[in-house]
Order: sequence, then structure tokens, then C-alpha cells
Amino acid sequence: MLRKYKLLHMAKTFLPKERTSTSILKSDTKIREVVLTAEVREKVKDFFQRDDVSRMCPGKRDFVKRNGVKKQKRLLLYTVKELTSKFVQETGINLPYATLLRAKPFWVVAPTFRDRESCLCVKHENFEFKLNKLKNLQQFVNHTSVEKTIEDYSCDITSYDCMNGICDTCKNPKLESADNADSVTYFQWKSVIEEKIVKGENKKFKITKKAAISSTVNELKTAFIEDIPVMKKHLYGIYIYNKLKKEMKENLTEEEVMIQIDFSENYTTKYASEIQSTHFAKNQLSIHTGVFYTRNVDNGLKSTSFATVSENLDHQAHAVWAHMIPILQIILKNKHINTIHIYSDGPTSQYRNRTNIHLWLQTLIKEFQQITKATWTYSEPGHGKGPMDGVGGTLKRTADRRVLMGHDIKTSSDLVDLFKESTILVKEIPHDDISTAKDLVPKIIDAIPGIMNITKITWQRGPEVTIKTYRHDRFEKQLRMSMLKMMEKF
Ligand SMILES: [Zn+2]
Ligand SMILES: [Zn+2]
Repeated sequence: MLRKYKLLHMAKTFLPKERTSTSILKSDTKIREVVLTAEVREKVKDFFQRDDVSRMCPGKRDFVKRNGVKKQKRLLLYTVKELTSKFVQETGINLPYATLLRAKPFWVVAPTFRDRESCLCVKHENFEFKLNKLKNLQQFVNHTSVEKTIEDYSCDITSYDCMNGICDTCKNPKLESADNADSVTYFQWKSVIEEKIVKGENKKFKITKKAAISSTVNELKTAFIEDIPVMKKHLYGIYIYNKLKKEMKENLTEEEVMIQIDFSENYTTKYASEIQSTHFAKNQLSIHTGVFYTRNVDNGLKSTSFATVSENLDHQAHAVWAHMIPILQIILKNKHINTIHIYSDGPTSQYRNRTNIHLWLQTLIKEFQQITKATWTYSEPGHGKGPMDGVGGTLKRTADRRVLMGHDIKTSSDLVDLFKESTILVKEIPHDDISTAKDLVPKIIDAIPGIMNITKITWQRGPEVTIKTYRHDRFEKQLRMSMLKMMEKF
């Protein structure tokens, strides 16, 4: 009896194992049919790193390590299953799902809940909260991701008309059988004003809070459907920004430089010894990061990462230019360059405001006379992530490692000194350079009506200072900047 049981037990433990090993063999033979040449692997890598396939995570902790190789994490926008047909269609390489999954770069991963908290924008996340709740309720189970859902409700996600509420076929998403009055609770990020006492003064802060919303299933479905036109516009904005960026990079000439910029989250200075740290107040360092692309004579595209570090934590428009001028001076040592293209996210206090536009043009007109043309392209809010976010992450990780080895990182020069031999161009911006820049901001500046809806501004050197504004790839209007005087010889 015991023996019988033992045998049975053994059989039970062995049987599945045997099955697994045969299935591994089977899939092995399957995989062998597809030859993964270095060229195919490279194509797979490029595909997964495309901005319409995955999104870069900006934080310094957002990296993935394998066999000693550290890479900034990217989150998939679709499941690999969904991406298989897209890959086959667009590359013409017929890879089965399992092979594509196996060849996927290890740093491109499916988002977990924690990732979402640090890596998505509020618009995306609020929509996703609703979608996930509905999926839990066994509704809309076919919509696997935000991107896939919006695709399901549009004829063509690359069409301006479909994504901007003009196409008659898809402009009014229909609500499927909403007759359900059960109550549900789901989360939404909400902007609230909170009062706090700072240094004896009552101050108001605008903060984003996660709030629990209670409603009926019907109401949740209605709210979900109402979000679709908003999400369509949002996704179209992301699509166009990435498309313009990609085309710019591909068609860049020797006379042009393309620069992607962003402020990194401030770095908190650290002391190697904990005892010491109780004696000194912790300070922060401001880090402005970027990557610039230039085209070499031999037709190769060259990318250079840069960062500027300051103890002045100001991130306003004048600070942007205090950070940017030393970098432009280095870039423009190349006298071939006469055109600058800047790509950035659109936080209103930093890049998307009239002061920044004024200072941008003024800097080019007065200080960089070799520049005859310039463009500025804004991403959809919260979606201006790019390789420069990895630069910020690298700076902070390198600094943290140094602290672990027993050194203090107290000042901007402590941090900058770590990168003397680095391929990343790192410069220190003196505190006073930023305060001086603030004092030099003119009192009266030309208004730029509707700047929140403008996604691209272009300028060309001429006797009068004028700019052209665009919404996505469509021209909107020409504006005269009368407060900006052109120099006598332009
Ligand atoms: Zn978003
Ligand atoms: Zn349509």
C-alpha cells in the first residue's frame, strides 16, 4: 500500500516534469526554424525601443540590471502578443510570438503597479484606473491596455480627423449595455488645494491626491466613454510628437543640431557618514539634462549626452537659459551648424511660456549669430520623456555610488567632478548666473496667445522678429515679436 502510494506520488511528481521537458523540446524545434541573426536581433531591439511601442521611465531607480549591464527601464505600451503582428507587418520579418518575446531587450518590460505610479501621466492613469475596474467587473475584457482600447474605438489612430473628434464614424463612442446599477469604488488622481503653515505663514499648495470614487457601474462606464475623446487627442499628440522627432533625427543635416532637454528631479546631497549628516542640513542640486544629435561628414548620426548642475534650484525660464547657454557654446563651436531644433515636454513654468520663447529668441539673435533658423517642439504634457532622463538617472546613481564608497557629495562641483573623464558632458552652473539671468528678464514681453495649444514654434532670422506657430503638423499663425529688436546687422 505504502509502496503503491509512493509510486503514485513519484509518478505524480515525475509526470508533469516529463511533459515540461517534451514541451521545451517542441518549442526548441519551433524556435530553430527562425534564424535570429544579429541583424534581426538589432531590428527587434530597435522595434521595442520605439516610442510607440514602449515608454522610457525617468527615475534613477528605474533601471534594470542583467549580467552587470544596467539599462534605463522602458515600459511596454502593448502586450508582446499584440505587438507580434505589428512587428511582422512593419519589418517584413516573420517572427512568431515566442521568438519575439525571447528576443525582446531585457530592459523593456510590462508595467507593474509600482511602475505606473512613477511613470504614467495623470490622464493615462485615471483612464487606466477606470479600465482596470471595468475589467475586474468582467466588462471590456478585450481591451488589454489604454493604447489598445483607444485603437478599438478609432478607425485609424494615425488620422488627425479620427483622433480629434472630426471623423463621423468614430467621433461618438457608443456605450455598450450599461444597465447595471451596482455600486463600485475606483481610484482617480485629483488636483486639490491644500493649506500648510510654512515658516509661520499660511500657504496654499496645489497637490495631486489619489481619491476613491464611488459610483454605479453605469456611471463608471459613462465616465469611461466620456474619457475616450480626451484620450484620443492625448494619444494623437504623443504619436505626432514621436513621429516628428523620429523624422527629424532621420533627416538631420550637417547644418542642424537637434536637442532634447528636461529638468531632472533634484538630487539631494549626501554625506558618507550618517553621524555627520545629522549636523548638516541636506541640500539639493538642480540638474538640467539633455541629448543632442549632430550629423557627421560621413553621414553618421552622433548623439551626445549632457547635463548642467547648479545649487540654484530655480527651474523657471531664465534658469533654463542659464543652464543652456554654456552647452550651446560648446555645440556651436561647430561652425557648420546654422539651425537648432529643440524638443521638450511642456511644463508651463519652464519651457511653455512667453518668457522662455523671448529668452530663446533673444539668446539666438544676440549671442549665436551663426544660427539663422530655429524650432521648438513641445510634447504632449507628461510625455516628453527621452534619453535625457537616462542621463539624470546616471548622474544620480554615480553620485550615490560615490557616497557609498565613503565620499561626500555636498556641492555641485562635487557632482560635476565625478564626470571629468566621462562621455557625458557635465558642467556646473554657478548659483549667481541664474539669479543674474532672473534680473535681466525684461518687464514687458510679447504675448503668445493660445500657447497651451501650440505644439511647435519656428523662427527664421530676418529684419523683423516673427514666429510661426503650429498645432501638431498643422500651421496656425504668424506672430510678430515686437519686443524683440533685431540687431542692426542680422
Ligand atoms: Zn499620458
Ligand atoms: Zn474615424
